Parts: sequence; structure tokens; C-alpha cells
Amino acid sequence: SLTQRLSGTIERLRGRGRLTESNITEATREVRIALLEADVALPVVQALIQRIKVRAVGQEVLKSLTPGQALIRIVRDELTAVMGAQASDLNLNVPAPAVILMAGLQGAGKTTTVAKLARHLKERRKKKVMVVSADVYRPAAIEQLKTLAQQVGVLFFASDASQQPEAIVRAAIEDARKSYVDVLIVDTAGRTSIDAAMMAEIKALHAAANPAETLFVVDSMTGQDAATTAKHFSEALPLTGVVLTKTDGDARGGAALSVRYITGKPIKFIGTGEKTDGLDVFHPDRVASRILDMGDVLSLVEQVEQQVDRDKAQKLAEKVAKGRKFDLNDMRDQLEQMQNMGGLAGLMDKLPGVGQIPDHVKAQVTGKEVPRMVAIINSMTKKERRNPALLNGSRRARIARGAGMAPADVNKLMKQYQQMEKMMAKMGRGGMKGLMRGMQG
Ligand code: GDP
Ligand code: MG
Repeated sequence: SLTQRLSGTIERLRGRGRLTESNITEATREVRIALLEADVALPVVQALIQRIKVRAVGQEVLKSLTPGQALIRIVRDELTAVMGAQASDLNLNVPAPAVILMAGLQGAGKTTTVAKLARHLKERRKKKVMVVSADVYRPAAIEQLKTLAQQVGVLFFASDASQQPEAIVRAAIEDARKSYVDVLIVDTAGRTSIDAAMMAEIKALHAAANPAETLFVVDSMTGQDAATTAKHFSEALPLTGVVLTKTDGDARGGAALSVRYITGKPIKFIGTGEKTDGLDVFHPDRVASRILDMGDVLSLVEQVEQQVDRDKAQKLAEKVAKGRKFDLNDMRDQLEQMQNMGGLAGLMDKLPGVGQIPDHVKAQVTGKEVPRMVAIINSMTKKERRNPALLNGSRRARIARGAGMAPADVNKLMKQYQQMEKMMAKMGRGGMKGLMRGMQG
């Protein structure tokens, strides 16, 4: 995954201290491969990598305490910048009937999406909805929409394959107005590939319908082609948004990034199945996790942010400075933080005075032992955690039983606690200024 790759690269970069243009190139190559593997269109990958590089060689990374992680943050930021942070709603704030025009290639999922949207607007937004088909090339297409309209319980304006598409749309709008319809959704024909006649027709339809929303429907499985199609449609029509269909069959998710980048229009919905309930509002932040294992990258970034969480570090430092004893509650906090971090070693090494922690102690606190240690502390009473001196033999035996472990495990934990406590006390006396400096990066 991208995260695994980047983690490896970061480890290497970390060892070098300073980032140079060449090791940034090395790191961005990993990002590039991952984006391509996710089926993001090449021009989009190139543009993204360029932006990432420019920022990476800038002050941002060079000045950072943790350059590799600063780089991950840049990747995250740039992907988020492309995707947008917030969900975009339909804008239906026009005199009724608000028209939604669907555009896209044949088989993209337009007709299915018309039914899904109709259902969504009817059920969730309590709109009176009418649908109409302007696909006069395939009579079966009109029948398909009629069946779907009946299924979801919305009005169907019957069109005739012998009519002109524009005439159908005008008549439908007129009928919708008379019937006090809130939203009229117009289904259109699509070809298997882009051609001039098709583009001319959809442009004319757009002019006749004056839609509040012009949605480009695109099959997420088409990968690189999705980008090309998006480009053509966005040049021909003033799109207001995108519906990305068949995301249930697409594990890679690169199309979302490509289409968003190329059209500059928000993805408003995603299709998640063949049935009429298979439609979700698109949450760019959430779907970012579908792309490229972003879930991992994001959590890694969050860990990094935790790691340099100055507030927390400062609070602990202040506590130690005030002479308040480092107790088992503090130890548990630390352990829990480490548990998510999967390696405090990096942070520890950054702290002046912490270099003296024996390697075997570092290994203990960063390894698989951590959850066991937390379990032991959780078996203690509040009082015991606050005052570890209370922990005599019988209490230790009780705690071991409670955590499902041996008394020796509890003894070991207490030894580790004593070592940490000693270290904290030492920092409290001598190394505080250094510690604070370290934290402020
Ligand atoms: P149109 O030619 O653009 O109108 O496409 P259709 O709406 O007729 O859909 C083409 C095919 O894609 C049909 O078999 C649909 O059931 C299927 N389809 C549409 N949207 C989705 C989706 O989100 N998920 C899945 N799995 N199939 C979909
Ligand atoms: Mg259709």
C-alpha cells in the first residue's frame, strides 16, 4: 500500500536528517506509483506530483522536525485539495420545477441514477418528483425509466420515441409546472463513445431545459477513460456536478480523483449498487480513504500530529516540572498514545536527554507488549494507579488475575514504570528546557 511504501521511504529519509531534492524525488516516486496503481489518470498524477514536489522542496519540509512525515502531510493536503473537503448538495433553489439534466455515455448508469435520485429527493427531501426520458433512440430506454418510476413511486412523463428530444423536455417542463412538481429529472441518451452529434444534442437539450443541475454521470470502473470522457463533457456543458457510479465494484477509486481534478466540479453522489437505494451522498473526506489506502495515510498523519501534539507534551512537561509525580495514569496515557503510534522511538530520539533510555526499554514500550501493559494498568484501582507504592504482593496478585496474566508480568510492568518515572523525574529537574525546545521543533 501507499502507506507501507511511504513508511519505508520515510524511515530512510529520517536517517538522513535533511531532505535533498533527490530523496524527495525518491519519495514522490512512491506516491506516483501508488496513484497510477489506483488508476488515477496520468495527467492528473503528473500535476499532483509536481505540486507535491514544489511544496516539499520548499521551507515546509526542510524546516520540519520530521521531514518524512511532513511530506506525507503534503500528500494528504494535496489530495484533499483536489477532492474538496465537504459534501456538495444539489442546488434546487430555483423557481419550480427545478430541472436536473443527466449527461454521460451509454451504460454509465444514467437511467438507474435518475431513479435513485428521484427516490432520494422524494424520501429524504420530501420533494414532488417527475422523471422524463429524452432517449428517443432506444424505445426500451423509455420503458426502462417508466418501470423504475413506478418502482420508486414518482411521476413519469410519457415521451414518445418519434418526438424530438427538445420537444419532449419542453412538454415535460410544462406538465411539471401544471402539476406543481418540485423537481423534474431529465434522462438523456448516450453513445458508446463521444461524438459530435451526441454533444450537439445534449447542448441543445441543455439550452431547452435551463437546468438547475447538470450532472455528469460516469462509470468509476472505466478508470483512465473516465478522465477523457469527463474532459469532453465538461468542455461541452456547464456541468454543476458529477455522479460516480458503480463504486461498489471499484476498489481502486482513482476515477474520483481524476474526474474531480479534470472537471473541477464536485462529485455529488456515488452509485453503490444496482438497486434504487444504491446511492450515497459523496463525502470527499471519507472517500479519500477509499483512494489509495488513504485511510492508512490519514491515520498515519494523525499519529504524526499526535506525536508532535505540543499541548499534550507541554502538559506532561509542566506536570513533571511542578514536581507532580509521574503515576500509572500518566504511564497508561503514554502507552495508549504509543499503541497507536507504533513507534515512540522516533519521538524519543528527538527529545534531548532521552537518548539514554536503554534500547531494551524502548523496544518494550514500542512493541507488542503495549496492549498487555495497558491491560494490567486497567486492572488496577484508581487509587493504585495514582499511588503505585500501594502495590504490594497481594495487590499485584489480584491485578495479575484480573488481567489474565502472571504476577511476574505485573512485576515487570512495575519495573518499567519505575524506569519511566525516574526518567521523567530527571527531565523535570535538569532537562526541562531542552525538552520544551525539542517539543517546539
Ligand atoms: P445508462 O445507459 O447510462 O442509462 O445506464 P443504465 O442506468 O441503464 O445502467 C447500465 C448498467 O449499469 C445497468 O445494468 C445498471 O444496473 C448498472 N448500474 C448503474 N449504476 C450502478 C451502480 O452504482 N452499481 C452497480 N453495480 N451497477 C450499476
Ligand atoms: Mg439509459
